[in-house]
Amino acid sequence: MAECLFCKIAAGEIPAEKVKEADDWIAFRDISPQAPTHILIIPREHIATLNDIEVGKEALLGKLFLAAKQIAGEEGIAESGYRAVVNCNADAGQAVFHIHMHLLGGREMGWPPG
Ligand code: AMP
Ligand code: ZN
Repeated sequence: MAECLFCKIAAGEIPAEKVKEADDWIAFRDISPQAPTHILIIPREHIATLNDIEVGKEALLGKLFLAAKQIAGEEGIAESGYRAVVNCNADAGQAVFHIHMHLLGGREMGWPPG
């Protein structure tokens, strides 16, 4: 999508601190980290929100979870713990409308989230 920030990051048109990538996803550090480790994992394909996922995308979405697990290990937070969060729409605070998984760790977190 031409005007999407994360599509532009995925295409390399806007710089980001890339952590890892594969054919169909890319992971980069959040520009405003909310934890010592705060990484965003996004599919290269533009999907706006969790409401827009369709049957057939299970494997793609599953790969985001596998990426989160792998990156958590590499960041040294797999054992201490971490969160994998997808915000959907206004009440959840979604600000960028290209689906993304937040990988947060490196500190204790409260529950429920604010
Ligand atoms: P959400 O509120 O779930 O839509 O999260 C969007 C996230 O994108 C926020 O945590 C922002 O800090 C992050 N963000 C916005 N612009 C950039 C950027 N250019 N590079 C990296 N992260 C970004
Ligand atoms: Zn996009």
